[in-house]
Amino acid sequence: MKTMAGSTQLAGMVSGIAAGAIRVVDLTETLRPEYPTIKLPPQFGQASPFVKRQISRYDEAGPAWYWNNFTMSEHTGTHFDAPVHWITGRDVANGSVDTIDPRRFIAPACVIDCAREVAADADFILSKELLLRWESAHGRIPAGSWVFLRSDWRKVAPPDNYTNTDENGAHSPGPDAEAVQWMIRERDVLGFGTECVGTDAGQAFRFELQYPCHHLMHGAGRYGLQCMTHLDRLPPTGAVIIAAPLKIEDGSGSPLRVLALVPADY
Ligand code: MN
Repeated sequence: MKTMAGSTQLAGMVSGIAAGAIRVVDLTETLRPEYPTIKLPPQFGQASPFVKRQISRYDEAGPAWYWNNFTMSEHTGTHFDAPVHWITGRDVANGSVDTIDPRRFIAPACVIDCAREVAADADFILSKELLLRWESAHGRIPAGSWVFLRSDWRKVAPPDNYTNTDENGAHSPGPDAEAVQWMIRERDVLGFGTECVGTDAGQAFRFELQYPCHHLMHGAGRYGLQCMTHLDRLPPTGAVIIAAPLKIEDGSGSPLRVLALVPADY
């Protein structure tokens, strides 16, 4: 009977997608050489941008086939952060992309619309109070959910300065330590996602606890999603996210395709 129910539900999902009752929204940026990567202070190692090199394109090197080699860092483009990415998560069980339980790659999302706040202040900080206010309008954040900060970032950052960096560092939104701790302890979230280059605010290196989202989320075995796009196409609740990183041995993260299944009646 259990199997019957499962096949009925899966068939319903597939027919729902085919009929348009469930929309598939792509939250992924296109991997291309110009796509910006995070830049660390010069004393640290740097992430490689996306570089594509053609092997053949119906020519002497391959008369009937087209294919490329590519290189990039684990944290280039729209990408997943695993617990081992941060020192606090280095001993987390199943903390690298190849060892995470694949059931965790499919999860609901709560989308916190901060677009207006970020338009007014690129250094906007997501607080516990704001999350509680969101819950009073949309209901309690379910355990095992992604929490996404919608910023409409592409409309905020200058096209040639995605990290929105000036002489004082990067300016982009993120949660404070109290909000992160609350999401983990009180709501048992799966992780935190953003349209910006990092899950932490651009100025988070100045916080009393530096980079609280990386520090606390990964230390608690939770995940991150960065450089997403089109979060404005998601409802506050009800979307299901499919975000499965590449199975890189002992990988700290990976570029990936992030898809959202969204009820069309939203
Ligand atoms: Mn990352």
